[in-house]
Formats: sequence, C-alpha cells, structure tokens
Amino acid sequence: MVIVGAGQSGLQVAESLRSEGYASVIVMIGDEPCPPYHRPPLSKAYLAGEASEAQLTIRAPEALAKKQIEFVAGVGVESIDRANTVLTLTDGRKLAYAALALATGSRARPLPVPGADLANVFALRTLEDTRRIAAALAAAQRVVVIGGGFIGLEFAAVAAKQGKQVTVLEAAGRLMARVVAPPVSDFYAALHRGHGVAIELGAAVSALRGKAGPAQDAVAAVCTADGREFPADLVIVGIGILPNSELAEAAGLACERGIVVDGCSRTADPRIVASGDCTARRLEDGSLLRLESVQNAVEQGKSAAAALLGKERRFDAAPWFWSDQYDVKLQMVGLSAGYDQVVSRGEVESQRFSVFYFRTGKLVAIDSINQPQVHMLGRKLLDKGNSLTAAQAADPAFDLAGAAA
Ligand SMILES: Cc1cc2nc3c(=O)[nH]c(=O)nc-3n(C[C@H](O)[C@H](O)[C@H](O)COP(=O)(O)OP(=O)(O)OC[C@H]3O[C@@H](n4cnc5c(N)ncnc54)[C@H](O)[C@@H]3O)c2cc1C
Repeated sequence: MVIVGAGQSGLQVAESLRSEGYASVIVMIGDEPCPPYHRPPLSKAYLAGEASEAQLTIRAPEALAKKQIEFVAGVGVESIDRANTVLTLTDGRKLAYAALALATGSRARPLPVPGADLANVFALRTLEDTRRIAAALAAAQRVVVIGGGFIGLEFAAVAAKQGKQVTVLEAAGRLMARVVAPPVSDFYAALHRGHGVAIELGAAVSALRGKAGPAQDAVAAVCTADGREFPADLVIVGIGILPNSELAEAAGLACERGIVVDGCSRTADPRIVASGDCTARRLEDGSLLRLESVQNAVEQGKSAAAALLGKERRFDAAPWFWSDQYDVKLQMVGLSAGYDQVVSRGEVESQRFSVFYFRTGKLVAIDSINQPQVHMLGRKLLDKGNSLTAAQAADPAFDLAGAAA
C-alpha cells in the first residue's frame, strides 16, 4: 500500500490500515522534510510562541517505524502510471503499488495581483511558512492581512496581541462571509476592533507596492481598487486554498474542485482512494462537497483505509470545525449553506452565544462562541437528524440536552 502525502489524512490512512489488521508493506511518501504535523496551531499557539515545534508533531519517525510504516520524507510523487501501477518520484525512483491512497492536501490560493511576489508577503500553510512569518513578524510593525477568513483573522489576533499595528482587508462586506451568518461576522469585527485591529470591509486589493530605493523588492504598501494605500512591513495572504489534485488529474482521475470521491473515499479506480483537503466528495444529491478540516482529513482517512481493505466505512457525520481568536473559541457544526433563517441563543455581550441555522424549517448548522456544551449537543442533534424549531433554539429555557438525547 502506498500513501502519497504525509499530512493529517495520509497518516490516518496508514495507521488505520494497521489498526484494521493490514500486515504487509505500507509506504508513506511526503514532500515536506518533516514527519506529519498539526497545521491548526500554525496560525494559533505555535505562531504565538505558546507551542513548540516538537508539540506540532503528530507522529515522530520512531513511532512510525514501530508501526512498520515506511516513511519517505522530502520526496514528492511526480506521476502515477495507472496502467502499470507504478509511481515516479521526484528523485527519479520508481515505486510499484498494489493500492494507492492520495492525501496530497491543499496549498494557499495565490493572490492574482501585481506585487504579490514581493519579499515579506506570505501565505500561511506549512511549518516552513510559519517559521519565516514568525521571524518577519518580530521585525515588523505595520501588518496587513489580505482576507478576513479564519487563517487571516487568527493571524491578526496573534499579531495584535504582540502589539503590532494590524489592518485586515476583506473584499466582501463582512468577515468570514462564506461560512458564517451576519451576527457571527459582526461579533468578530467588533472583537478585532476592540483589540485595536483595523477591519476594512469591501476592500478589494488591486496591487502590492514595493519600497523605493535599494530594498525595492520588499513590500511597502497594499493598494485597494478604490485608490487607498495601506503601508505594510509584512503582508499575510489568506484568501483560501486550492486542492492539490493535479497529480490525480494527470493520471486521468476525475477532478472537479478536488479529486472526486464517494462517501467511502473511493475514486473510480478500484486501486485508488483519496482523502482530506485534496478531495471533493460526491453527495447523494449529486453535488460535490469540499471540506478543509481536521475532522474531514481524519474521517476520510479512516474510510479510505477501510476501502483499501475492501470494506465500506461511510463518512457522513455532521462536519465540525473550530477557530481560536484571542480568548474566544468558535466551534461550528453542520453545513449552513443555503440557510434561510438564523436565531441566536445566549448573550453576544457576554461572548457566550450560539447561532442556529435553519433551512426550510430544519436545523442545518450551529456556530457556538465560547459554548462548548452547545457545540457538543449540536453534534448529537445533527448526527441523529433531530431537529427543533427556531423558537425552541432561541429559548434559553428550552432543554437542548433533552432534544439531543
Ligand atoms: C494555518 C492553518 C490553520 C488551520 N486551522 C484549522 C482548525 O482550526 N481546525 C480545523 O479543523 N482545520 C484547520 N486547518 C485545516 C487542516 O489543517 C487541514 O484540513 C488538514 O491539515 C488537511 O489534512 P490533509 O492531510 O488532507 O492535508 P495536509 O495536511 O495539507 O497534508 C498533505 C501533505 O501532502 C504533501 N504532498 C502534496 N503533494 C504531494 C506529492 N505529489 N508527493 C508527496 N507529498 C505531497 C503536502 O506537502 C502535505 O505535506 C488549518 C490549516 C492551516 C494551514
């Protein structure tokens, strides 16, 4: 069994193969130079200096060796020859496979404007990115974040706590607009502003300008389409990701917003499964769902391993996700897309409230702010398909635990 990609999902495939009793050879190939690591702390505790590099490691090489998982680090897979079931690696080696798991993850979406390649302009995706950002941040005073999504806002929170002058430029009319309802966006805008962060909404970036004189390849300012300029010593670009699906696509596998898989992480090739950020899952109604989360990487990894062993382990639990900004924890469960009603439960002022999303009267998602109990009950509610009315959700006296039981 060969696994391409040694991130959260690739590791899960390898370990699940072993826990499911697979006793033969497992090779896991990763193009980063380090063993599998947790990405979420890169924009949170690690960037803030509250977690060490050692704490990021999910499984050290010795632990992999103990499970007889052969780990090839710092080497990529260049191509897949499906007819002959052989991989070509970036160092020229060939490797035959009996079955293949693709867990190639995703990369930061590049900013398509002039000046995006200036020095001190960073994406935040890998450990190496974060090392370079942490060093540049120490020397910077004025920081501009392009994109008011999770990663940009988590970075903004860390930088603001370090006393930097932070501006977030968001092209949409509110923060995290793709995934949360207006009450949550408004709460986060106020939270950041309360920490001294300038939040500029409707600010579409048109160019990055370099410094004059000898340091002209370093960024000096971010320019917006409405003619404004925001001076910057450091720029973080957080405008989403692109799935790493080119390898699969070149091998003739169906790719549309990611490598297309079914609910058991199978591609159309019976020898190949795929899991994690690189995939788009075909749902029963024919639509495609691409998730970028630890839960998805882990659960799809488990079903991919099961599929490689000829078993069916469907991943259809409600998706969940979290984000830490300052001392506020946002936990989300369900898919709010297409909601037509939202109600709040709890008090926004106390920074402890939840927003319930409904679609045609059915509960579809819950965002909880500093309310882990509500989040856990929400997972139960959504996994069981239990619903409640909007009036019940908004009523603080309504017994949520009873409804989730
Ligand atoms: C800064 C940051 C913060 C995040 N915060 C959260 C959070 O709070 N909560 C949450 O749920 N999720 C969070 N995420 C998302 C989460 O980390 C990802 O969804 C998860 O890591 C996906 O795992 P994966 O294995 O699919 O991909 P990855 O972790 O990206 O691993 C894929 C690996 O495959 C390698 N690879 C790619 N192509 C090849 C090739 N051809 N050959 C060999 N190797 C290859 C890549 O270099 C990479 O090492 C965050 C992500 C980032 C970047």
